[in-house]
Amino acid sequence: IIMLEFHKKKPKNPSKTEPEKRIKDFQEIYSQFDKNDSVEQSSRCSQCGIPYCQIHCPLNNNIPDWLRYIAEGRLEEAYQVSASTNAFPEVCGRVCPQDRLCEGNCVVEQAGFGAITIGNLEKYLTEIAWEKGWVKNLSSQNQFKQKVAIIGSGPAGMAASAYLTQNGYQVDVFEKNDRAGGLMIYGIPNFKLDKKIVERRTEWLLESGVKFNLNMEVGKNISFQDLEKDYDAILIATGVYKARKLDIDTSSVDNSIPALDFLIESNRTGLGDSPSNNKFLTAKDKNVVVIGGGDTAMDCVRTAIRQQAKEVTCLYRRNKENMPGSAREVLNAEQEGIKFNWLSVPSKIISDNSTATSMTYKVAALGEVDESGRRKPVDTGVEKQIKSDLIIQALGFEPEDLNHNFKTNIELTSWKTVKVDFKKFQTSNPKIFAAGDIVRGASLVVWAIHDGREVAKSIHNFLQSSKIKKAS
Ligand code: FAD
Ligand code: SF4
Ligand code: SF4
Repeated sequence: IIMLEFHKKKPKNPSKTEPEKRIKDFQEIYSQFDKNDSVEQSSRCSQCGIPYCQIHCPLNNNIPDWLRYIAEGRLEEAYQVSASTNAFPEVCGRVCPQDRLCEGNCVVEQAGFGAITIGNLEKYLTEIAWEKGWVKNLSSQNQFKQKVAIIGSGPAGMAASAYLTQNGYQVDVFEKNDRAGGLMIYGIPNFKLDKKIVERRTEWLLESGVKFNLNMEVGKNISFQDLEKDYDAILIATGVYKARKLDIDTSSVDNSIPALDFLIESNRTGLGDSPSNNKFLTAKDKNVVVIGGGDTAMDCVRTAIRQQAKEVTCLYRRNKENMPGSAREVLNAEQEGIKFNWLSVPSKIISDNSTATSMTYKVAALGEVDESGRRKPVDTGVEKQIKSDLIIQALGFEPEDLNHNFKTNIELTSWKTVKVDFKKFQTSNPKIFAAGDIVRGASLVVWAIHDGREVAKSIHNFLQSSKIKKAS
């Protein structure tokens, strides 16, 4: 088999729907490799002895091996290798910021030939595996009596539930929403991650024996203390949901909304739910201003344009080079006709009764480097005005007050994330574990899957050693 073809074959990604067409619906914008492309693209890999792609993949996926198998047409083996470290490879293939992780660190990219298109190959491989029936329900040789409660069904909770079921435990997931999936279902828009992909995984877990208790908010519909009584171990995987606020007060107007309210409404209607009666949650025919420069802001602007907003502008206080969001998503947004006002700091909302009609912002220049390592915006004294009949605030997320909600006394960090030992994901109470965004702060799906995998091992070790202790 021929590998190391990177100097002969050009890097290629599957085609992307044209912007004019893709803004008409919420379908995923990338198509999928076919067999020939997948062989050609994987054969570009130089099979590095020290694979930087793997080192920079949070899951430490054995990328060179599955690329070689794809190139050799041994797809089932490729899938087995890929699935052995990643619970949801088809999700990561779609939503990982590969340019910062595996692909960005590929030596072929560093050498100037263009990265091996790992993400799209991972997506292709797993879609084939589903088609061919290689994705089997989880089963276990063990049947332990011990029970594990997982709070939250995002990627961290879902991944942990898969590994714990595979290890032979009874797993009960408690989810406050009416659907499982966390931000994969209600945060990330359908055009990045088709909801069917997430629902297929939820079905797979259900059929494998995971019990999902939906509409069950811990701290409200069931107490944390009841879980402590009934379960041998508890995993907190509740994510971070407190929206950061704008420096200016927007409480007097009702059309300035948090990003997630907007995205949840859009995802809900996409899933077939009837629209809520809050008319401020849709962008149709409005001049929409989205404030923020991260991935959530990009998801909001691109959702708004698909809802047929009149005009969509993103206000960001630094410049393009200093944006925290993925360059790929910014480019997609630009192609879709979003206007970007860089170096713009919101200063005042102008309203008619309780409805904002426009807002002003100060034009900034870049000053000294701040604590985040990026240059700080400083005021130039110039103020501008922009029409805004929907303002969406996408400034990031912080943890909610967990101990207040759960009536517990779990040790937290100064950022209010749950404090864990990062190898074991165990809290100050040995029976209680935590994983995903609630320990990391707002992070990535792939890190949540990583944490779910690692915490499952750790819970298994804990439960096995507590059995031995009981017996002796
Ligand atoms: P979540 O996915 O937040 O899941 C937590 C779950 O816990 C939720 O379902 C919640 O309802 C539930 N819960 C909370 N409290 C309780 C309670 N008391 N009782 C019961 N259930 C509870 N990452 C990427 O890698 N790529 C992307 O493209 C990307 N895009 C994003 C776009 C948006 C708009 C947002 C907001 C995030 C995005 N992320 C992306 C980040 C990614 O979604 C998160 O890092 C990841 O989902 C975290 O997983 P988690 O399991 O820790 O938490
Ligand atoms: Fe790359 Fe993400 Fe897949 Fe790892 S999980 S190989 S970082 S796309
Ligand atoms: Fe292949 Fe690139 Fe990984 Fe090297 S770094 S093994 S070339 S994908």
